[in-house]
Amino acid sequence: MTDKAATSKGASNRRIDHFFSLPGARADRWRALHASARDWARRGRSDRAGVRALFDALGSYEGFFAYPGNKLLSSLRERIDGDQAEAAAALAQRISEAILTKSYKADATDWQSAEAAAEATPDLNTPTMARGMGRRPYFEMLVVAPGASTRGDSIIEQVRRLRRPEDAFIYEAVPVSSFEEAICAVILNPTIAAVTLYEGFFHEAQGEAPVLRDFLASAGYDAAHIAGDDLPLSLADVLKRIRPELDLYMLSDRHVEHIAGDPRAAGIRRVLYSVEELLELHLCVLEGISDRFRTPFFDNLKKYAMRPISTFHALPIARGKSVFKSDWIRDMGEFYGLNIFLAESSATTGGLDSLLEPTGNIKEAQEMAARAFGCDHVFFVTNGTSTSNKMVHQALVAPGDIVLLDRNCHKSHHYGLVLAGGQPLYIEAFPMTEYSMYGAVPLASIKKALLDLKAEGRLDRAKMVDLTNCTFDGHIYNTRRVMEECLAIKPDLIFLWDEAWFGFARWSPFLRPRTAMGAAEAIEKWMDDPASVEAYEAQQKELGKNPSAAKLLETRLIPDPRKIRLRVYQTNSTHKSMSSLRQGSMLLVKDIDFAGVEAQFHEAVFTHASTSPNQQLIASLDVARRQMELEGYGLVANAIEIALDIRKEVNAHPIISKYFKVLGADQMIPAEYRQTGFTDFLTPGVDWEDQVRSMHEDEFCLDPTRMTLVCGTAGFDGTQFKKMMADEYDIQFNKTSRNSVLLQSNINNTRSDVANLIRVLLEICNKIERELARGGENGRAAFAARVKSLMEDVPDLPNFSHFHEAYRWDAGKKTSEGDMRSAFYSAYYPEGCEYLPLDSPDVDQRLKKGPEMISANFVIPYPPGFPIMVPGQVITKETIDFMRKLDVKEIHGFERAKGLKLIRPDHAKDHVRK
Ligand SMILES: *Cc1c(COP(=O)(O)O)cnc(C)c1O
Repeated sequence: MTDKAATSKGASNRRIDHFFSLPGARADRWRALHASARDWARRGRSDRAGVRALFDALGSYEGFFAYPGNKLLSSLRERIDGDQAEAAAALAQRISEAILTKSYKADATDWQSAEAAAEATPDLNTPTMARGMGRRPYFEMLVVAPGASTRGDSIIEQVRRLRRPEDAFIYEAVPVSSFEEAICAVILNPTIAAVTLYEGFFHEAQGEAPVLRDFLASAGYDAAHIAGDDLPLSLADVLKRIRPELDLYMLSDRHVEHIAGDPRAAGIRRVLYSVEELLELHLCVLEGISDRFRTPFFDNLKKYAMRPISTFHALPIARGKSVFKSDWIRDMGEFYGLNIFLAESSATTGGLDSLLEPTGNIKEAQEMAARAFGCDHVFFVTNGTSTSNKMVHQALVAPGDIVLLDRNCHKSHHYGLVLAGGQPLYIEAFPMTEYSMYGAVPLASIKKALLDLKAEGRLDRAKMVDLTNCTFDGHIYNTRRVMEECLAIKPDLIFLWDEAWFGFARWSPFLRPRTAMGAAEAIEKWMDDPASVEAYEAQQKELGKNPSAAKLLETRLIPDPRKIRLRVYQTNSTHKSMSSLRQGSMLLVKDIDFAGVEAQFHEAVFTHASTSPNQQLIASLDVARRQMELEGYGLVANAIEIALDIRKEVNAHPIISKYFKVLGADQMIPAEYRQTGFTDFLTPGVDWEDQVRSMHEDEFCLDPTRMTLVCGTAGFDGTQFKKMMADEYDIQFNKTSRNSVLLQSNINNTRSDVANLIRVLLEICNKIERELARGGENGRAAFAARVKSLMEDVPDLPNFSHFHEAYRWDAGKKTSEGDMRSAFYSAYYPEGCEYLPLDSPDVDQRLKKGPEMISANFVIPYPPGFPIMVPGQVITKETIDFMRKLDVKEIHGFERAKGLKLIRPDHAKDHVRK
């Protein structure tokens, strides 16, 4: 990463949105060129010089894409320079459309020289197969070779000549001749799926290097600092860090053994002697792609579905017979199609596998997912991450174990602890009172809880730290720092990162370091570095013999690399951010001590998984992995681009920004947690380096794809606005708060979705303006009052109070963990429970004079969706005030007619189990 100061702060090409909008900007540049050429041809306002200027503006980036390629570009340039306006316009249109629609990936005529294309007569019998292109998936291979700038066309031709009709995929070469260009190419061109490195290429780009270098610096890579001794190996290392899914090949004259011994060569799939047949390389490249393309379970399911099978087991709809033969439910068959029934089975043999005890293609599919997600093991889960979380709790937590838990986390964790008998030690996220939501848990609170446990001699019982990354609203932890500092206090602590929303982040080099597995990998590397022990010992020396808790809290603690047992778990709702059917979830494991708990995991799977897992769900997990490994990088970059676009359009629009805004990092994260001083993605003057530094150092960052849109300032409460957008405009949002809604961009969004959203918001704003104009003084006052009520009269968020004495077990004075399970089951004995209506004066009386009110169950209002009471918790005035002010209708665990369900204090101890 560069430490070079930005040369021109705030220059537009260093801005964060510029970086992400490059793919979109490329299409825009081509569109502009086409429009201008057309105008020129019609003798409109533009002229040759204008068209030529736009052609030049395509810039050196075009060299990083196989299409349109040198030939078509030269041909276009010649037409422009030769004053052939109409011919230039026609060619610009052809190329521009091919890029926009991506038709060049399947249509060979897109690639033909202008003359050949004009002569070609469409022939339906030999459609687009002239150069072997058909419906086969298309990718590009970067070739980094000396002299590629002059020999480029012959390299491309060489690669094309290798094509065979039986190849499963088709690809084009993208030749570059330097380290710098290679990095630019893999960042900018998501279609690149394989890279071949020849020895002898340059370090620095030639020609228009300043643009590239500027881009590289903005991407955080200072190529000048890369060790130049063994360029191909250094490059391999850097490329793998940017896009770990890429297949790398190296052609070398040296001894393969020499290369294979270098740790940087670990990411190279195959080293070939340069003299070996190019065909060998071709076969390797295709095999590499097919290794990612293969979906063992799905492939087998498809085969299974095609076989004639008579079933005599349960599941009448299997093979569709009970559906298609019925007069009454045939429409179900027609709606879903035959295949889903052919692929339904309760069999676990005959080509299928058992999710509960996988030994065949499910096992293999899980192993491929582990490779893709950068961990050691993956469990496919077909009952959502709700179940994945409970499995982790059950497998790792025994009764009495203490788990440090964000109270604001998903309810599956709270219930998981009730089932496992673990004791939650609730740690509070910072509140965002004005939006009625919580942020994330500050590291200081986590460390303090651990140090308090240590002070009271119970640190050995602390088993796990369990946090949500990113949170619903987009707060991303500094996962590496959290784990390192916690491991400095207790080196065998387990981490569960609930990344329900964040599974996609693996595919962005920008977000990956802040995922559970990205950080775990970095910590592993750090542990292997001899300098780490030195750093640890230096810090120990500085801290002295018995450092005070205060000192430890303010120090950025370094763990002892020799003592760490790295045990990291991640759960993700694959269905929330990738192409899996609903409820498809994965449980990721990177645990050095996994062998010791593997049997427990199997028990957890047996406890929680259905014995009839859905085949289509398993298949969709397999397929989601395939997609991310082959196109995840581009899809995620696109989702980020869309999000930045929405942020910019809403916040900069002269009318929309009067009533709506998307909150920036500076509004979502208090300044004390943005240590680098980072404000927001689009603040003027903030550039890419600021973003990189913030991602690296700040305690919390914001996921750009999760956008909190404030609607209270337009006079709508969140629920009302969400409903209106869905009912009247067919736009669906995620969750709501009192005065905001959450928008989320993901891998399925397009730029037209952005346009539609902006159009609708503008329509709503115009309507508000008309109504305000018509409503006169009174109308305006009423609107202002409503906005004020939504934005300012917000209830304070109640903190977790404490567990009642009966459920405190051996907890000391400093920490608040409790025996939630005993409290939970106390509620099963009616004689020990009572109800108090929320508005009853008895409630106020008990708050004042006691006896304490003990919640019998979880009470979870939606929104905000976190438990404001848990079983065994003492109810305080803050909680009652919050409940009374709460204007939401859906409150799980609370029946308004009956009132609060409480455990009678005199019965509290009746059912405590030890
Ligand atoms: C949605 C969600 C879950 C539960 O996942 P499902 O796949 O819906 O069961 C768990 N944790 C968090 C943070 C979530 O957002």
